[in-house]
Amino acid sequence: MSDSKPNDKPPAKSIDEYRRKRDFSKTPEPAPGTPSRDGEPVFVVHRHEARRLHYDLRLEMEGVLRSWAIPKGFSYDPKSKRLAVRTEDHPIEYEDFEGVIPKGEYGAGTMTIWDRGTYELVNRDGIHGVDKGKLEFRLYGRRLRGEWHLVLTKGKDKDKGQASNEWLIFKSSRDVYARSEDDQPFSSDLSDAKAAAPPRSFRPMKASGVVEAFSDPDWIFELNFEGLRVACVKTGDEIELRNPDAKNGSALAKVTEDLRRIRAESAVLDGVLVALDAAGRPSRTVLDAYLRGDETAAVSSKSGPPIYYYVFDLPFYEEFDLRGVPLLDRKAQLASLLPKPSRGVYHVLYVDHVPASGASLADAVSMLGLTGMIAKRADSRYAAGPSKAWLEIPVDPEAEAHATSIEATLAATKAVFAPNDPRIKFTNLKKVYWPADGTTKGDLLGYYDIMADLILPYLHDRPVHMYRFPDGIEGKSFYQHEAPGHTPDWVELLPIHSESKGRDVPHMMLQDRASLLYLINLGSIDIHPWMSTRHDLDSPTYTVLDLDPKEAPFVDVVKVARAIRKILDAIEVPGYLKTSGSSGLHIFIPLKPGYTYEHGRLFCESIARIVAREHKEIATVERDTRSRGKKVYVDYLQNHAGQTVVAPYVVRPVPGAQVSTPLNWDELDFDLHPSQFTIRNVPARVSRVGDLYRPVLTEGLDLLEAIGRLQGYVG
Ligand code: MN
Repeated sequence: MSDSKPNDKPPAKSIDEYRRKRDFSKTPEPAPGTPSRDGEPVFVVHRHEARRLHYDLRLEMEGVLRSWAIPKGFSYDPKSKRLAVRTEDHPIEYEDFEGVIPKGEYGAGTMTIWDRGTYELVNRDGIHGVDKGKLEFRLYGRRLRGEWHLVLTKGKDKDKGQASNEWLIFKSSRDVYARSEDDQPFSSDLSDAKAAAPPRSFRPMKASGVVEAFSDPDWIFELNFEGLRVACVKTGDEIELRNPDAKNGSALAKVTEDLRRIRAESAVLDGVLVALDAAGRPSRTVLDAYLRGDETAAVSSKSGPPIYYYVFDLPFYEEFDLRGVPLLDRKAQLASLLPKPSRGVYHVLYVDHVPASGASLADAVSMLGLTGMIAKRADSRYAAGPSKAWLEIPVDPEAEAHATSIEATLAATKAVFAPNDPRIKFTNLKKVYWPADGTTKGDLLGYYDIMADLILPYLHDRPVHMYRFPDGIEGKSFYQHEAPGHTPDWVELLPIHSESKGRDVPHMMLQDRASLLYLINLGSIDIHPWMSTRHDLDSPTYTVLDLDPKEAPFVDVVKVARAIRKILDAIEVPGYLKTSGSSGLHIFIPLKPGYTYEHGRLFCESIARIVAREHKEIATVERDTRSRGKKVYVDYLQNHAGQTVVAPYVVRPVPGAQVSTPLNWDELDFDLHPSQFTIRNVPARVSRVGDLYRPVLTEGLDLLEAIGRLQGYVG
């Protein structure tokens, strides 16, 4: 090509620079060897927890790994262009490196492999694109798929007159994987998945027994639709339905068209073909008629035969065999592959599930006139043939079941709460509280019912403030401190003197499951307990830092939380992290008895001010929202008598039915987003990781000693 000069100069970031920066007697990193290798070039992305967390993308070229540090990680939105700073070439051996680089050494911190695989360059100049400032490549990883672009920015390094190290990395819109910023893939960890091509045939997993409905946090429950079990093999645009009875192309045209649009080049989906009868109920007879081409059975519909493919499992994804990956991770990946119905995909539908409360789902299924459901162990692998991890649960349809619809059957897993406390008259259970996904008041009550034992200790003996949304998250709402006059006598009340009202105001306390469900039935969504208990209302049992992003990106919230953790670690103060459930993060610090709100507030204020000073560009303690800019607000002012912060595990009145979820500090990652934790998956998460917030109830900090250490830290 006429415009490409021969590559006679050495690479700008040669391996000598790698060698020069490191002392191989001190760092566990590999010294450059003389590798010779065949096969596809590889890429690796390291998650590098150095002074600042970032991701290092490394592409194998000319016997080395060309490297870029990406401070904010990857986005699947082609419009979101992120900084990528070119760093020195690394030796090929680095592709396997994971370890801790000691303090004082170059790049000190923990380096782990975040993703890896092979890649191919698709830009015109191949490897010379590095010198020309433009690389286009396709990644074949577990997390990163499809085409990405790296483009050198125009800026020059002023002092040295050299080319800038600053590149931008972004997703190309030329493949099936691109998606908008508000629709990023669920970051499921497929590291257990083995690379293996789908076999010519595989045995679908089957239930091995029939049981009565039950409830158990280790299990999830799905509707069992009457239809034709079919595996779908997608290879590029080619769609194969692996069942000899599913051959009628015209009847299945809509289904195949939608299957072409899922976000994978290749995949094997497991599901069931369902046709609806005139009443909107799944009917095998109607399905068989369509598949035979018998139009007399036709249900008139403008959009063709009402045949749907309900998918519930993903045994193979791209070049990976997911059968060894736990069920909930497979389902999360599957859900992430399906474009939303709002993007025009109606005929391939994800089978959602209800965690834990199978008995309640059975009632909802019966009311809809459906005949069965299936219990699956939440952590089960995909087995060949019958397995004890799947159990069938037959359900007697109610004789007078309501005529149903595709929406109603889909929503069946969203209307599962069966009231069982005679003292409470549960109302409007089918009222949709979250219009975007159809989540109902019944779902909310069902969630609190199965989570009550976990949540109640955080509410015991604490007055609560009510925040009611009787018409769901988009309807009117109101705050209320005073318990309504009609509160039943079995809900405990605590009179608290109100200066403004000049009298005692009765506050509810949620001492048992019934009281909790009573409050939710009144239209509450989240729960706001005091930080102190009835035993001493002036003395909080914990103090709270509230990280509120408003306009700031969530990665900045993550950075600020990490900065706070660093300070807390340095002064040996344990802090407990949770998502607020809305847009930010909370850090609770349990206190010894006897401190006042003011003590807690002063301590949190000191920390907030240090962080705002050390991270001016992203953190602020400015109360005035207008002068806050797009920074994370580190709020210490919640620590005030009569102020409340939502309890752990409560659901928030925000889209997605997000839950305020306790986290391990090592989950504080740039992949983290509060939207990952919802009433659909938090119960299963808790049965896996336990109650990470329990120390908030059992530990207590000697605040005076900690303030002393903090003064020492500031110097
Ligand atoms: Mn790095």
